[in-house]
Amino acid sequence: MSEEDRSLSTTPRLFVRDALAHGAQITLDQPQSHYLGSVMRRQPGDMVRLFNGHDGEWAARVSAVAKKAVMLVAERQSGRQEQVPNLWLCAAPLKKGRIDWLVEKACELGVARLQLVTTQRTVVDKPNLERLGAHLVEAAEQSGRTAVPDLPEPVTLDRLLKNWPADRALIFADETGGTPLAEAKAPAPAAILIGPEGGFTVQERETIRAHPAAVPVSLGPRILRADTAALAAVAVWQAINGQG
Ligand code: SAM
Repeated sequence: MSEEDRSLSTTPRLFVRDALAHGAQITLDQPQSHYLGSVMRRQPGDMVRLFNGHDGEWAARVSAVAKKAVMLVAERQSGRQEQVPNLWLCAAPLKKGRIDWLVEKACELGVARLQLVTTQRTVVDKPNLERLGAHLVEAAEQSGRTAVPDLPEPVTLDRLLKNWPADRALIFADETGGTPLAEAKAPAPAAILIGPEGGFTVQERETIRAHPAAVPVSLGPRILRADTAALAAVAVWQAINGQG
């Protein structure tokens, strides 16, 4: 790693929606400007790392610091755009603390999409998508990702199964048993479906298992909490099918 990259690796890292290319002029939004200008006290000439989900990571230099806006100029690409394995995590929303943790870790583990699914035993029916979206961006900023997972509107289990893409494997994490995930043949495009803390009802389980794309899997003999099960399943799938 060059000396330049080593010094860059400790600089702030921000997600922006602007196109990133040599000489691109970026004006940060108010919250990011406050963070960079007032909290991190960055001055003209200082370096920052930027990514936008498709142009890779760019080293940018602060060109101006005003009360409500910090301006940057992109100078060079400091990291290639990551290839995101085509894996979705479909999970029932959990209580605040747990869902925040799940969102952060799912982003770190490289999922392409986080689809919240309401089921009969789901305890949280209106998750705060704006807050979860901000968590996804923060997790991508802090974990060195150059892509932020999609976070579509939550759907009911029925709607999820009805609109299921024919080419995508539906890896159904079923605590009542299935093929050990490590032995399941479910390469990308794939999705892992995790139930709520209370689990799926018998009727839901039958409906999921009857789905043509369903691949019922076991995550072992122990009943894992929903957030643990989600991350264990993503980590195992990535180890086998992702970049591992
Ligand atoms: N209702 C279940 C119970 O109380 O016995 C537990 C549900 S578990 C806390 C939440 C979800 O995690 C389950 O719906 C399933 O998707 C997943 N899960 C937990 N342990 C699992 C295992 N050993 N194998 C497969 N999936 C598991």
